[in-house]
Amino acid sequence: MVEENLRVGNNIVVSLDYVLTLDDEKEIDRSEENEPLEYLHGFNNIIPGLEKELVGLEIGDEKQVIVQPEQGYGERDPNSVADYERSVFPSSRELEIGTPIMMRDKESGESFQAYVAELDDESVRLDFNHPLAGETLYFKVRIAGLREPTGDEIAHGHVHQPGHNH
Ligand SMILES: [Zn+2]
Repeated sequence: MVEENLRVGNNIVVSLDYVLTLDDEKEIDRSEENEPLEYLHGFNNIIPGLEKELVGLEIGDEKQVIVQPEQGYGERDPNSVADYERSVFPSSRELEIGTPIMMRDKESGESFQAYVAELDDESVRLDFNHPLAGETLYFKVRIAGLREPTGDEIAHGHVHQPGHNH
């Protein structure tokens, strides 16, 4: 079957080369060479502001996409911080600004990540915002590959890498 006319759209597996920079042109992420990000389109597997701008692209197409915070990782909530006593954390745990801390919600049991925003000898302030909240995101993307998903991938709503299991 010839699939050279596949385009990015719902229920298509997209392989994406990308470079992500912020306002100050500082590069903060990029796909590995020859290891594009692979995702199933139409299932909110990537941020909405990027996903919708890729619709209709073909293999080899390149595009610059600017994503505002509300279509990316959301606005930064200045109230979404909390102070803890330093003694709450094991003394062996090295903490510095930006250290990610896994937290568990007692009620839901869900794990999520917070970041050390400030600290001194007595206290630690954790920031629960996503580190890219409030940032405008500048993506440079190239469609490296497109393919039809398997039935399992559609049923699960995500790509299955080799060795993937549940
Ligand atoms: Zn799965």
